[in-house]
Amino acid sequence: MTLSTTASQVLFDRAREVTPGGVNSPVRAFRGVGGVPRFIDSARGPWLTDVDGNRYVDLICSWGPMILGHAHPDVLASVTDAAAKGFSFGTPSENEVALAAEIVERVEPLEQVRLVSSGTEATMSALRLARGATGRSVVVKFAGCYHGHVDALLAQAGSGVATFALPDSAGVPASAAGETVVLPYNDLGAVEELFAVRGEEIAAVITEASPGNMGVVPPAPGFTEALRRITSAHGALLISDEVMTGFRCSRSGWYGLETGAEGAHPGGYPSGAPDLFTFGKVMGGGFPAAAFGGRADLMARLAPDGPVYQAGTLSGNPVATAAGLATLRACTDELYPRLLETARTIADAASDALSAEGVAHTVQWAGSMFSIFFRDEPVRSFADAQAQDTSAYGRFFHAMLEGGVHLPPSAFEAWFVSGALDAEALDVIRAALPAAAQAAAAG
Ligand code: PMP
Repeated sequence: MTLSTTASQVLFDRAREVTPGGVNSPVRAFRGVGGVPRFIDSARGPWLTDVDGNRYVDLICSWGPMILGHAHPDVLASVTDAAAKGFSFGTPSENEVALAAEIVERVEPLEQVRLVSSGTEATMSALRLARGATGRSVVVKFAGCYHGHVDALLAQAGSGVATFALPDSAGVPASAAGETVVLPYNDLGAVEELFAVRGEEIAAVITEASPGNMGVVPPAPGFTEALRRITSAHGALLISDEVMTGFRCSRSGWYGLETGAEGAHPGGYPSGAPDLFTFGKVMGGGFPAAAFGGRADLMARLAPDGPVYQAGTLSGNPVATAAGLATLRACTDELYPRLLETARTIADAASDALSAEGVAHTVQWAGSMFSIFFRDEPVRSFADAQAQDTSAYGRFFHAMLEGGVHLPPSAFEAWFVSGALDAEALDVIRAALPAAAQAAAAG
């Protein structure tokens, strides 16, 4: 079977004339895997339908937000109601309060959040707040962690930066990058060494709560706890980026798993919670809504109460907040075990198919987020992730696409499941796997 991609190709050709690379976010261009990106016409439940009429089981979920599947009836109703009342007011509105309250209620250390429109804005603002609050400028990030396209955080980042094998981005001034120190993930010794020398200059350590942008690489037992201890000892802040993991790994995100409130995971925060959190993706339900937050005393440093400026024309947009609120309200305690079971079913089936063909691989987990790395050793760092066989992933990806399953078009991403994946969708995945595993083996 060869799926027709004529209509996608026509659109892609036209797109490349009017948009750089034909896409509005680089990973969508399929450069990591080759071929024609599918232009999606509509999506419902677990399915994406492209402009050629091909239907795919969706394991991208818009890179995380669509945790309930597409066009979930409750979310659609809320969005429709909200849109009927107007699109943007530029004044405070009730849904913003409700969404902030829902987030604060879910993540125990949070006292306040400020709503923004993208994960990038959330991390950029959290960083500014951390620098404003500490009066220091150096920020520490980890290789393979992606925090959006913030100048200071585009060094050795994951996601698209990893897919394109870029060390950093052009256009980031040395002065901005010079204030960023990049360390290997899960390497406590490197953190300790840096703090011993430059501890007094460091405003914050930012880390993905459990990295998903180099593929899924959870923190080693005790790693996050040690980050908390070391930052506290030197008066630096700890920023936990939960843009991807927030409200996906559990109802309180990765934090809920770390603290054992929602299932034990080694690590924990016995020495205190992170100072700041960032959120996005799920909390916007597919619309542009994101947030950063923390203790009230820290958040009070933001304008209008404090000297750290931060603002947005569309921040707290009434339609986006309606979508986010309806999505979070449908992210019930019942959803998470079901997501985990679905994810396990898919990962086990994929792993069995790859094993049957003798393809080296490792499955790694963060709640129901998982990645299959095409190498047979555990992946603890970006360097480990880069040592996988990305061309095997490319062959696997395309065979899955032919079989009606849309995986992320890069070996450095998590596979996202939704609550809408049903028996029919799982059957399509199972049916596609043997040929995909053979393709992966055929290198
Ligand atoms: N932080 C993390 C952990 C992310 O995964 C992402 C996006 N993949 C971002 C920040 C940036 O979010 P956005 O794309 O909404 O700007």
